[in-house]
Amino acid sequence: MSHKHIGTAAAASFALLASPAADTSEAAAQIQRSQTVTRAGAQASIKGPAEYVTGSVRVDPLFAANESAPYSGGMVTFEPGARSNWHTHPTGQHLIVIGGVGLTQEWNGAASELRAGDLVWCPPGVKHWHGATPTSALTHIAISGVSGGKNVDWMERVTDEQYVKAAGSRK
Ligand code: MN
Repeated sequence: MSHKHIGTAAAASFALLASPAADTSEAAAQIQRSQTVTRAGAQASIKGPAEYVTGSVRVDPLFAANESAPYSGGMVTFEPGARSNWHTHPTGQHLIVIGGVGLTQEWNGAASELRAGDLVWCPPGVKHWHGATPTSALTHIAISGVSGGKNVDWMERVTDEQYVKAAGSRK
């Protein structure tokens, strides 16, 4: 696997939610007949962009979508108090919670507490957010389907009022 391909995945990846659209580079378009091992540490961590998150969020890119596997993956860590903006996913998203304690909430819904080992499936088009609790960090892996070159549609910020209310009433 070329160095170029790995670089593309990392650069494109705000995999929170988000990340690389399908890699349409010439190299990726060639039929690949062997496995790729991407070594630990080969892909730099990315800071969650302030326009899409509140607080401190780190994204560790995992993999980009490709033609035969049209979904991307990323590992996301939210420091206490940090959360995504409200958003939807065009083809849905799986979350695999691997550490800490966090929250997810649908628009007009109750907040659910998330702990390591919990799984979340978010269907296409469902408006929601995810993040840490006010006092605990959260780490999850997000696997997001890519359609039309994107895997997330970003919306407005989760206000402090919305966040505090969600954290206080979580189930
Ligand atoms: Mn999401």
